[in-house]
Amino acid sequence: VLRMESVRKVFGTHVVLDDVDLDVPPHTVTALIGASGSGKSTLLRCANLLETVDDGAIWLEDQEITDPRVDADDVRKRIGVVFQAYNLFPHLSVLDNITLAPRRVHGVARREAEDRALALLDRLGLRGKAGDYPDRLSGGQQQRVAIVRALATDPKLLLLDEITAALDPELVGEVLEVVRGLKGDGMTMVIATHEMGFAREVADQVCFLADGRVHERGTSAEIFGSPREERTQQFLRRIT
Ligand code: ATP
Ligand code: MG
Repeated sequence: VLRMESVRKVFGTHVVLDDVDLDVPPHTVTALIGASGSGKSTLLRCANLLETVDDGAIWLEDQEITDPRVDADDVRKRIGVVFQAYNLFPHLSVLDNITLAPRRVHGVARREAEDRALALLDRLGLRGKAGDYPDRLSGGQQQRVAIVRALATDPKLLLLDEITAALDPELVGEVLEVVRGLKGDGMTMVIATHEMGFAREVADQVCFLADGRVHERGTSAEIFGSPREERTQQFLRRIT
């Protein structure tokens, strides 16, 4: 679904992504782990064309999206994104938050967009919240609404960046449960996370980033069970 080849991203003189290769097959979950500043968010932003790459290429499905002729809005229509801070529109109800993009960007009729939104809310345990405003919801509920919003456009790929980092510990579980459910549905996801237990459980592929490079990659069992690289071992020792 997503492929990166030799991606390089530089801010000023700082090389933030250096020769990054990534292959995300359909219906798989890839976890990006690594210290703060290792480039996880930048990688996700490049995948969504929120950042331009300085070298290398990125493919979404069969299209090279780093081709300058590609329409970035058209690419973003096919990717769902959820960030750390929920970023819901405070002046819109839950339902309007979710149906805004399908209606405005994808041209879906209101009725159809609302039916789909209500079905998703129901599935994510948010039945009855459609008319509420975001400030009436808990952080975990808001983040689940943000996930519903990302799913409302039926994306081919979901990018999740530290989606539990801003939550109180007791609310983390309900959001991770949603991600488990999406994995069960076969959603293709790339997840940047500091939740190592969760990455270990949910990821098919784990990439350990250090200084903008994929320092080591493997299955969850390989990276968490028997990492080969000294630096990966050190990172996991420190964090777990
Ligand atoms: P965290 O775990 O803290 O979220 P991260 O792995 O997501 O970290 P990034 O946010 O991708 O790391 O940042 C990688 C590096 O790029 C950092 O050194 C950061 O300071 C730098 N960086 C990110 N965005 C910019 C920007 N717009 N301008 C300059 N430097 C940036
Ligand atoms: Mg980050």
